[in-house]
Amino acid sequence: MPEVTCPNCGTRLSAPEAFLGRQVTCGQCKQGFTISPPGPPTPPPPPGPGPLPPPLSSPLSSHSQTSGLATASLVLGIISIPGSFCYALPGLICGILAIIFGVLARKAVARGTAGGSSLSLAKAGLICGVIGIILAVLFVIVVAGIVAWAQSQATARPYRVRTF
Ligand SMILES: [Zn+2]
Repeated sequence: MPEVTCPNCGTRLSAPEAFLGRQVTCGQCKQGFTISPPGPPTPPPPPGPGPLPPPLSSPLSSHSQTSGLATASLVLGIISIPGSFCYALPGLICGILAIIFGVLARKAVARGTAGGSSLSLAKAGLICGVIGIILAVLFVIVVAGIVAWAQSQATARPYRVRTF
């Protein structure tokens, strides 16, 4: 038996095939209406465009957010390596930030909100950040050594340095 929906109260009714195209009375609201042949009265729900965007957009937004952290970690890590040769401080700051962003990105991957691509980015960022910090520390040690050597050379000179 085909199902029809009452245009007055929306109750779904089962009507015999013979009633198609004929005037009937709804059992629920007692209103008369014509049963139209199946097809036009039951338009098929629009397939695709309705339910598709939500599952597409939500993984994309969370993925882009997390890979943004991983990308920031990698960029800062790369900057920290040359930055460590510019008086060490930029390299130190960028290296620490690269490690922080890398750890945050790895946590996001562990929560399942990011793809594996951001994990490798975050790993590269962490490694670059650590290298940047090591280079910055080495730069400080080397510069301190040069300064100490220069000072020892200066004090070893025979003539005095005025100190007033
Ligand atoms: Zn009705």
